[in-house]
Amino acid sequence: MTAIIHQFAVGADNFGVLVHDPSTGATASIDAGDEAPILAALGHKGWTLTDILITHHHSDHIAALSQLKARLGARVVAPRADRHRIPDIDVAVGEGDHIQVGSIDFLTIETPGHTSGHVSFYSAAEKLLFAGDTLFSLGCGRLFEGTAQQMWTSLSRLASLPDDTRLYCGHEYTLSNAKFAVKFDSDNAALRARIAEAEALRAKGAFTLPSTIGKEKQTNPFLRAAEPGLASAVGLVGYKPVEIFAALREAKN
Ligand code: ZN
Ligand code: FE
Repeated sequence: MTAIIHQFAVGADNFGVLVHDPSTGATASIDAGDEAPILAALGHKGWTLTDILITHHHSDHIAALSQLKARLGARVVAPRADRHRIPDIDVAVGEGDHIQVGSIDFLTIETPGHTSGHVSFYSAAEKLLFAGDTLFSLGCGRLFEGTAQQMWTSLSRLASLPDDTRLYCGHEYTLSNAKFAVKFDSDNAALRARIAEAEALRAKGAFTLPSTIGKEKQTNPFLRAAEPGLASAVGLVGYKPVEIFAALREAKN
């Protein structure tokens, strides 16, 4: 693993993330919601922006895209399905497309559900996943443009990645998600331990991310819809996991 990751706060609860390849000097920003904190992070690290990888079209992820590209000339990689609503795209990507940030390879995984065009970027070699607003720590994105089936398929796909994959996402929602999770999965000791850990991190002003796919599979109720305890918590024993998932997502709205 060679990539250096720098995660920083953008506004109240968005994350900015820079990925830096020391062997080539290439640096990517994952999403571009607000220009000032991204410029500050680049300056702080002494890195030059070369690429901007966009997960989806929501304004808290693209509002600074045009300014940043005009200022720094970075290459913009974004979902092909969102061509009509994301400006300044240089490389449009979809399922199975690989893109490089310097020498670091990322696979594009289409993860519709939060939005219809949403993609996630995955590096197997770096054990790194940028899931945008699809998978959160202890939660998942709202279904703005997709069905429960689409989101369940997207989440199941991400859950199938190796357990030690580091998960970065668009928002610091862990503690508010935890309140929901513990209501529906109250006997889960791993969840209670994670909540205690997250509370301690937030109390000292630290981030609760990255998480890992392995931790999320143990503690995220939206990935645990196939567990009998979750089915009974939503009163749907014997129903399919996607139906349990849909009920959980509905209950969280
Ligand atoms: Zn969003
Ligand atoms: Fe967002």
